[in-house]
Amino acid sequence: MLRAGVVAVQGDVNEHAAAIERAAQLHGEEAEVVEIRQSGIVSDCDVLLLPGGESTTISRLLHGEGIAEEIQAHVEAGKPVLATCAGLIVASADAKDDRVDPLGLVDVTVDRNAFGRQKDSFEAPLEIDGLDDPFPAVFIRAPLIDDAGDVEVLARWDDDPVAVRDGPVVGTSFHPELTDDVRLHRLAFFESAMASVEAE
Ligand code: GLN
Repeated sequence: MLRAGVVAVQGDVNEHAAAIERAAQLHGEEAEVVEIRQSGIVSDCDVLLLPGGESTTISRLLHGEGIAEEIQAHVEAGKPVLATCAGLIVASADAKDDRVDPLGLVDVTVDRNAFGRQKDSFEAPLEIDGLDDPFPAVFIRAPLIDDAGDVEVLARWDDDPVAVRDGPVVGTSFHPELTDDVRLHRLAFFESAMASVEAE
C-alpha cells in the first residue's frame, strides 16, 4: 500500500487523488491518499503531491502550519514529490515574489503568471522525456521557468522548460491531473519500476 499525501491547504486536490489511485493501480499497487492540512502527517507518507492553486496562499499556510519543514525533510530523505503549477512555484528556489517563501526543492527560478502571456490558459501536446507519446498538457496561468539550475529538463514548450526533475522531485508548469492521462503521476512516483511509460 502506497501512502500518498496530497497537500490540501488550498488548490485542486480531488483530481490528483484520483490520478494517484489510477497510477498505482496500473502498477499493481493500491494507494491510500491522505490530505495534508496540518503538521504531523507528512512523515507517514511515501510520496507527496504539491498541487496547483494560488502559490502565495499555499506558501503562507505551509509555513504557518509547520508543514514546510516536513516537506523539506521528506525530500532530503529521497522520497518522491510531484509539484504542479503553483506547487512548482512553492517548491522552487526563487519565486521572485515576497509573498512566496519557496521551499528550495527544485533548483529553478520561476516567474509567476508570466508563461503564456498572450493566452492565459491553453492545452498543448508535449514531448516529455521518458514518455513514448506526447502528453496533453493543460497550462492555466502557468509559471515560466526562467532560470533552470542543476535540474534535468524533461520537457520544453517554446524553448522554455515546463517539466523538470531535481532528484526525487518532478515539477511541472502545467496541470497533469486535468486529463485522463496519468503518465506523469506514474513517472514521478513509480519511475523506478519502468524504463519508459507507455500510453494507455
Ligand atoms: N498563477 C498561480 C500562482 O501564481 C498558479 C496557477 C495554477 O496553479 N494553475 O499561484
